Amino acid sequence: MPNPLVEIQGLTKRYTLSSGFFNPQKRIIRAVDNVELMIFIGETLGLVGESGCGKSTLARLITRLEKPSSGSVKFKGEDIFSYDKETLKSYHRRVQIIFQDSYSSLNPRMSALNTIKEPLTVHRMGDRKSRIQMALEIMSKVGLKKEQANRYSHEFSGGQRQRIGIARALVLNPELIIADEPVSSLDVSIQAQILNLLKDLKKDFQLTYLFVSHDLNVIRYISDRVAVMYLGKIVELASNKDIYNRPLHPYTRMLLSAVPVCDPRRKGKIMGVKGEARAENEEGCSFQNRCPYRMETCEKIEPPLKKFDEQSFCACHLAGTI
Ligand code: SF4
Repeated sequence: MPNPLVEIQGLTKRYTLSSGFFNPQKRIIRAVDNVELMIFIGETLGLVGESGCGKSTLARLITRLEKPSSGSVKFKGEDIFSYDKETLKSYHRRVQIIFQDSYSSLNPRMSALNTIKEPLTVHRMGDRKSRIQMALEIMSKVGLKKEQANRYSHEFSGGQRQRIGIARALVLNPELIIADEPVSSLDVSIQAQILNLLKDLKKDFQLTYLFVSHDLNVIRYISDRVAVMYLGKIVELASNKDIYNRPLHPYTRMLLSAVPVCDPRRKGKIMGVKGEARAENEEGCSFQNRCPYRMETCEKIEPPLKKFDEQSFCACHLAGTI
């Protein structure tokens, strides 16, 4: 195994929710719940789960756009929450995020060239001339033409806008890219182009990816390892091959059974109602209300994320027996 780039230990993010205008009671929920995870240098780690499971909150914690309630995130061995202002600025250059909605993440009053070169100005990299040169070079790497440099975001298609977002992230020469649902708003044919582009760029720029998606087909195509998240917890972590050929956790199985298939007799729907973020005092397994294998123990004892074999981890009392 290569060295870890990111080490996440006991990471928890709690939010206090009000129960409504006429109800003064407050409810504490755990959006990210005691997450332990490593991202190794050079890998693509896929993070998959239904919407609202805490994937984006986890991504925001790793980028330090939010602070945790407890736990730590280390980048190359250093705790990112202990950074001073200068080190944090450098961290925000080394770790870049690509967003889902390419339209709202781009400034409509900026040309493509200015959008891509803006981070260089913010981080005071190069002079005016070299910034333009760097931005043009990155534009060509992501498949945009020089002639498109002075166009505005509304003049581009969704796929092209996402290419601008990728170029803007790449221009700072980052080490880690967090791609938060980067293709979910695109047509399937364009999705494939962007995924192939991200694969090529990873090789060319020697990047590490945390790739966040609700789509198991996308995650299968791009990831080396896969972490499955349910209600703020990582419930399974394994190699791409093992997740898809030998899923251990009932939730992973449920997600896989819902992947759209060509056979019209199979519906491809997730069984049961979607879970709600866990309250502070809830006991037992977070998946118990939807699990077809639930036992008495599951209601009382929360299963930890335990090592199953060399590369696989699973948080289920029945891992390997179902
Ligand atoms: Fe199901 Fe129990 Fe495993 Fe939870 S611990 S996933 S309820 S079998």
